[in-house]
Amino acid sequence: MTNKIYEYKDDQDWYVGSYSIFGGVRTLTDEDLDFPLVGLAKIFRDEERGFPLSVTVLRYGSPYRLLSFVVDILNQEMGRNLEVIQRQGALLLVENGQLLYVELPKEGVDVEAFFETNKVRETLLIATRNEGKTKEFRAIFDKLGYDVENLNDYPDLPEVAETGMTFEENARLKAETISQLTGKMVLADDSGLKVDVLGGLPGVWSARFAGVGATDRENNAKLLHELAMVFELKDRSAQFHTTLVVASPNKESLVVEADWPGYINFEPKGENGFGYDPLFLVGETGKSSAELTLEEKNSQSHRALAVKKLLEVFPSWQSKPSL
Ligand code: IMP
Repeated sequence: MTNKIYEYKDDQDWYVGSYSIFGGVRTLTDEDLDFPLVGLAKIFRDEERGFPLSVTVLRYGSPYRLLSFVVDILNQEMGRNLEVIQRQGALLLVENGQLLYVELPKEGVDVEAFFETNKVRETLLIATRNEGKTKEFRAIFDKLGYDVENLNDYPDLPEVAETGMTFEENARLKAETISQLTGKMVLADDSGLKVDVLGGLPGVWSARFAGVGATDRENNAKLLHELAMVFELKDRSAQFHTTLVVASPNKESLVVEADWPGYINFEPKGENGFGYDPLFLVGETGKSSAELTLEEKNSQSHRALAVKKLLEVFPSWQSKPSL
């Protein structure tokens, strides 16, 4: 407990508050505060301290702002993890996935619209600007009750440089940085090709193997050049790799990874896919991944395998309380 004075002020709202004994909300405006705080008081009142906040309303515009202000003080002073969610005009107070309190507008809410889904939908932000990737993840996470967004919904976020030396470092960098900046649950991936005889290269440098801004064709040419003296296919073993990281504020990140094994061919073949697909012979099939249809690739690729693993462990990770 501190003696800190909190203040929120914008054009419409102006609140001053502190953590105190037997507090309450008083207003210096003539407006009728359609914000009883009664339910909140019930939750946070205790015998010794009564309602533990004093809030003075100097200007009142939005119940959401006022509740957010109150909740911010409670979080800081009581070490809580409360958040305010707006839904159909109602305000929901949620903590670690538990609904604690609902503040309804005077006119009520439309029951059907409110209960359309029986769960408060959470948002999962995919750390990519690629709409194709987003679409794939949306199809999966929509079924689990998540609204999926991507970085195009947050144009002001800075680019996170992939400065890590491993796939996990890069995926963590993206997921954890963006989660900290937005307060959201964020999923990031990092993928690439690992060639055994090259000690795992191009690895995290897959996209820029032939230099920053290199085209797929240039990267493929560089890879063939590096393998020019490796004459036996069996010595050209490789794996496509994906690491997925899900980060959420105040939570240990979830990390899963998967490999898709194969060999690097002596020349490109096939028209589909992207990147190193024309050179990557899938398993023992002799077919390059650029010869697979999108459906065939998506059912067995490194990304597909990693997503499958993620779905196995995600629900129990998600239900773990925050630190
Ligand atoms: P990202 O991390 O998914 O952006 O992948 C980085 C780089 O790895 C890409 O630019 C490609 O060069 C390579 N890569 C990753 N996945 C694949 C794939 O499925 N096929 C071909 N190349 C891939």
